[in-house]
Amino acid sequence: MKKKIIIIGNGFASLFFLSYLLVLPVYPLVAFFLRRLYSRYEITVIGNGNFVYFPAIPEFITRKKTRQGITVDIRRYLWRRNVRFVDDQVVDIRDGGRTVVTTNGTYRNDALFIGIGPAFMTDDIPGAGEHSFSPCAGPDAMNAFMERLDHLQRGVIYVGFKLNKRDGFVAGRGGQMYECACLLDYALKKRGVREQFEIHLFSPDIKPGEAGMITDSLRERGIVLDYGYEPAEFVEGGMVDKDGTFRPADLVLFTPGITAPGWTHKTCLPVSVGGHIDVDKYSRVKGLEQVFAAGDCGNHEDPPPWVPHQAHMAQLRAESAAKNMRATLKGQAPDSNYRFELSCILNMENDALWLHAASDDKPPFWNIFPRHSSRLISVKNGFERLYLFYLRHL
Ligand SMILES: Cc1cc2nc3c(=O)[nH]c(=O)nc-3n(C[C@H](O)[C@H](O)[C@H](O)COP(=O)(O)OP(=O)(O)OC[C@H]3O[C@@H](n4cnc5c(N)ncnc54)[C@H](O)[C@@H]3O)c2cc1C
Repeated sequence: MKKKIIIIGNGFASLFFLSYLLVLPVYPLVAFFLRRLYSRYEITVIGNGNFVYFPAIPEFITRKKTRQGITVDIRRYLWRRNVRFVDDQVVDIRDGGRTVVTTNGTYRNDALFIGIGPAFMTDDIPGAGEHSFSPCAGPDAMNAFMERLDHLQRGVIYVGFKLNKRDGFVAGRGGQMYECACLLDYALKKRGVREQFEIHLFSPDIKPGEAGMITDSLRERGIVLDYGYEPAEFVEGGMVDKDGTFRPADLVLFTPGITAPGWTHKTCLPVSVGGHIDVDKYSRVKGLEQVFAAGDCGNHEDPPPWVPHQAHMAQLRAESAAKNMRATLKGQAPDSNYRFELSCILNMENDALWLHAASDDKPPFWNIFPRHSSRLISVKNGFERLYLFYLRHL
């Protein structure tokens, strides 16, 4: 009997999980037929069918990337792998993970992988949902921000982020917001209106006076550093400080801290202190059999405090989840855990930084790339093109 595997979500974690679960991640023609003749698993993916390459969203600011260019209809990719696709939304997980409930049906499984991505703590600062835009809400939200920006000839723009650190690591999007602030500076200069704008970078999670390469890059661009600042409320036309002072802002680009989507808190899944799905070092959901999770919805066991939620971490975790699911389905003990690594190219359009930290001190790509060079922008674009080509055609 084939084992029934359900994968929830079709983002980075789920697609990496699938590629590591299958023996041949890339599907030449022969493998296409082989998987139809023989496969150990009957795999179902439940999701919306649209993969979004989020790391490219900040580049909407320079008009180098578009919604269409970074979105892939994932159905053909799954069809080539003989994976069943269910276009639906999961609303509950029951029976220790064996039953998955969607808006339209109920699905049983022998093993479950959860890759449902993040929920943003929008209620943390009142008014964030109504009076700020966020690149993390996806291409449409970023397009709406750009439309407003296009109509401004002068003004004050605040770019900020807040992190959820309650699980001992960085659940939020700091690097992306630095990138947005620098790209804004570049785009406004290109329009010849930079002098008419004030750009502020704020975050309650950066200590006032903090120094380093990112701070230097922001300073070089004349970006006002509001390190340590947290608004009490976002309101029409600006923000209100904790002492009641009104700060005018024509546009706010803000991203709150991350947890797992709220509906998971009402299921049989364990919840961590910080609101993530509670996962161990083997990517197993704690206390449940044959249930694995990776990506932005899950916490870590004993993480270093600097590790962020990233597509890159989603990949490392998904790989260990796939190996461990294969082992446990054969009755073996899981033995694959993952390393912690922060690896991200911060694109400023006229310059770039490779931000990197690893739990085993391994450098990225054997140190063949520089850490500070505008040439890194081509490297970042290269990764993106390769991955999107893989999803669209292989
Ligand atoms: C602006 C921005 C820039 C970024 N830049 C970088 C970068 O440079 N480098 C990097 O490594 N990372 C970057 N990241 C982070 C990276 O995109 C995330 O860490 C990554 O997307 C996490 O993968 P995931 O699979 O957990 O979540 P996602 O990619 O968000 O996928 C979640 C999937 O689950 C589906 N889903 C959600 N709820 C349900 C449900 N109830 N039922 C069924 N399906 C559901 C969604 O539709 C989606 O398909 C960036 C993120 C943003 C927003």
